[in-house]
Amino acid sequence: MTIPYGRQSITEEDIQSVVDVLRSDYLTTGPKVSEFEKKVADYVGAKYAVAIANGTAALHAACFAAGIGEGDEVITTPITFAASANCVLYCGGKPIFADINPETYNISPEEMEKKITEKTKAVIPVHFTGQPCDMKRISEIAKKHGLVVIQDGAHALGADFRGQKIGSTGDMTIFSFHPVKHITTGEGGMIVTNSEEYYKRLVLFRSHGITRDDSMLLKNEGGWYYEQLALGYNYRITDIQCALGISQLARLDEFIEKRRRLVERYNAAFADNPKIKIPFVEEGCNSSWHLYIIQVNKRKEVFEKLRATGIGVNVHYIPVYRHPYYQKNGYHDVYCEHAEKLYEHIISLPLYTDLTEEQQDYVIKKVSEALQSKTVTK
Ligand SMILES: *Cc1c(COP(=O)(O)O)cnc(C)c1O
Repeated sequence: MTIPYGRQSITEEDIQSVVDVLRSDYLTTGPKVSEFEKKVADYVGAKYAVAIANGTAALHAACFAAGIGEGDEVITTPITFAASANCVLYCGGKPIFADINPETYNISPEEMEKKITEKTKAVIPVHFTGQPCDMKRISEIAKKHGLVVIQDGAHALGADFRGQKIGSTGDMTIFSFHPVKHITTGEGGMIVTNSEEYYKRLVLFRSHGITRDDSMLLKNEGGWYYEQLALGYNYRITDIQCALGISQLARLDEFIEKRRRLVERYNAAFADNPKIKIPFVEEGCNSSWHLYIIQVNKRKEVFEKLRATGIGVNVHYIPVYRHPYYQKNGYHDVYCEHAEKLYEHIISLPLYTDLTEEQQDYVIKKVSEALQSKTVTK
């Protein structure tokens, strides 16, 4: 595969920042972790941030902090990575899938509201591809029904909903720093929140449920003393990773700008092609463009042709409830019409900071060729 669909952009400065940590006193639970947290919190405009092992752990921690437990229902979208729903299962809750809006591909607030029962405790909207969900409607619905809002912002670091950066509002928002995401720490994640109470629970959960914080201890037997107050995990992230994250964060706006430019070039190339549906763009919102997804007919054929030419196209996503694990565990009757329809037609094209215009032109040419061949018709 010569051109992947996504990949990291690493500079000599990034490398040096990691090497510097290796020569320092702290490899984990040190100053780089809190520095990275502070910088991400400041960037998105949130009060608190908790850096964690990966985006999935961030979702798990957020569900724990929200108090999701046995029997609780949590509504999310089927067009997402499995982790957005798995995190609910980790806590003994039940993910409920609400269909998407066929234009934006994000969860439909109306469908979400229809799925609310007396068991619903939270909603997990996913800002799919970096396109912000309708947070105004979702917040109104959540407020009306007393639900916690956990935003899955794994695609949306740096995106904004009508001038508000994703992560600056709502109960908790998670980010992922996997190498295909906007910035990377190898593996890594973050939860941001404006609530001190959530913040404390997130910190507790990240490290075994154990605390030394005097204000949280039930008693204090001395300087050595700590207490395990909940069942947490070791979901800590290292200073080595956070140093890379700090260095990457300094280039985030440049990364997003580059992605936007590439998206404009794709759009300009495809806009007049009746065989391609280009992505939705909402007036007044800024997508962070994690993915560039087109819709085509005969997707399988087009996909295989592109793969054969060395282009690492992908499909994001298979509706989560379709996976055998979900089918075997009570989801065999679930069917979201718009999600199914979208899944039939989508292809993610390469989009990442270091994708050159020459490479992109090659992709554009190959996509057009794949669609021109006789067998692919409308
Ligand atoms: C990447 C991703 C995650 C999980 O992040 P990891 O860091 O890979 O654990 C969760 N949700 C969505 C939508 C993602 O794309």
